[in-house]
Amino acid sequence: MTRLLHNWLTLNAERAPESIAVVMESQAITYGELERLSNRLARGLKDADCRRGDRVCLLSPKSIDAIVAILGIIKADCTFVPLDPQSPAARHRKIIESCECRCILAAGNTAPLLDEIFAAGAFDFPFSVGSLGDARIEGPHCRAGFSSSDFSTYSAAPLEYRNDSADPAHILFTSGSTGVPKGVVITHANVIPFVEWGKTYFHMLPGGRNSCHSPLHFDLSTFDIYGTLAAGAELHLVPAEANLLPHKLADFIRRSELTQWFSVPSILNYMAKFDAVKDNDFPHLRELLWCGEVFPTPALIYWMRRLPHVRFTNLYGPTEATIASSYYTLPTCPADERSSIPIGTPCPGESLMVLDKNLEPVPAGEIGDLYIGGAGLSPGYWRDEEKTLEVFVRKHCSGDGSERIYKTGDLASVGEDGLVYYVGRSDCQIKSRGYRIELGEIESALHSLEGLQECAVVAVTLGGFEGARICCAYVPLSGHSTGPLTLRKELSRLLPSYMLPTHWLEFDSLPKNANGKIDRPKLVEDFKNHEAPAA
Ligand code: AMP
Repeated sequence: MTRLLHNWLTLNAERAPESIAVVMESQAITYGELERLSNRLARGLKDADCRRGDRVCLLSPKSIDAIVAILGIIKADCTFVPLDPQSPAARHRKIIESCECRCILAAGNTAPLLDEIFAAGAFDFPFSVGSLGDARIEGPHCRAGFSSSDFSTYSAAPLEYRNDSADPAHILFTSGSTGVPKGVVITHANVIPFVEWGKTYFHMLPGGRNSCHSPLHFDLSTFDIYGTLAAGAELHLVPAEANLLPHKLADFIRRSELTQWFSVPSILNYMAKFDAVKDNDFPHLRELLWCGEVFPTPALIYWMRRLPHVRFTNLYGPTEATIASSYYTLPTCPADERSSIPIGTPCPGESLMVLDKNLEPVPAGEIGDLYIGGAGLSPGYWRDEEKTLEVFVRKHCSGDGSERIYKTGDLASVGEDGLVYYVGRSDCQIKSRGYRIELGEIESALHSLEGLQECAVVAVTLGGFEGARICCAYVPLSGHSTGPLTLRKELSRLLPSYMLPTHWLEFDSLPKNANGKIDRPKLVEDFKNHEAPAA
């Protein structure tokens, strides 16, 4: 029985130490090396005073070292907290403060970002900084701890673990509507059932070559990493640069002879838009899975027609319920571009419920709120009981019992075929290029800028290949001549680039509805009607 996520690595390192575990461009690491290096790092972290349950942040681009770090962190009985190197220092500070980390592990090229994080002021708790590179990270504000050359002095022998499967393995910070990212706590026990099911369902075996496309702060990467390690397969890290160029990405899949691809649909959509896939392309590919947003049917048809040898599966689920909670494998290529693809049936150990306001099931065909129950449910948001109790609620079951369920904020219906269909959101959370964004977080950042009297951010969905556009309507304070370029520049100091509005409209005053609230549907129409200037 697997109790802890790193047990799979240890098992496969014993079974086949010379097998390749992770590949990044021309570099590769075997299962045996990954096991030894992560053991050393775990000892290094313990020596840096990291104790059971302590949070260790990782600020690093995707790399073999980063995978070693994730495993080393959980082997030290600590909790892994990924920091997105693309985010600005101000957002990192919020996450570091919130998780009160004991250590930050960083890759060398993030030193300037670390300096910026520290330059903004001291933190009121102590932590050390470890470098994943050969050199220690130096800088006026960095308390240099250790580097990878220090790790080599530690024993590579197996450690004794104090963690239990109910302990957190990682905390994933997602966009928060009040302006502060919220940390979803995920335990080892939350991840294990999905990985065990996915390994069997997707026929993941030793020798298989799986993509790792998602950034490490996305929960899809959890399945890439642990699914691969559980199967004794190879994890192929997709270089970030390949993402910008669809033909390069297609070439990467060909050259790496991938057998499984898993990503958000946006990138698949993008590749379809640029016609990057040939007929019968990627001959080694067996499984293509996506999660995180709707895969537009025309783009899905594009892929399925070109790759008749591949099995296509739609996975659905929020971070709060760990990786995915339901699945649907397409039996055949959809005939009609307008047909909706179901999110399917619950994965084993999970349940999906479409309920009304009284938490009673709505009749088939009617739209209701989508709730999830089961093994993947997070214990809640990090140190935020109020938010946790708001969305993790109890539903009475027959008899005396009650079940803990999560209100996803998604609207759904159950079809006559018994499958669940995603309909949309009931709130202001959107997906843009696969990123989960609360429009409230963007508005809250805008409100902190000078020179604005009013502002509102809305998402405009344009169908076809393009996803949601983030649009900002604003009213400058009288006497201020602020415009999209200035606003975008100032906002980029607070938010990652994927959250920045791309379309802007200036108003004398924002339209209001009968209750005096900003009329957001009207703003959406305004943006659709104007070809609003992109910044
Ligand atoms: P995240 O926490 O980033 O995984 O985002 C979770 C949200 O993404 C869900 O609540 C849905 O709104 C959306 N989502 C996830 N998977 C799918 C899917 N297969 N189809 C449509 N929307 C999805």
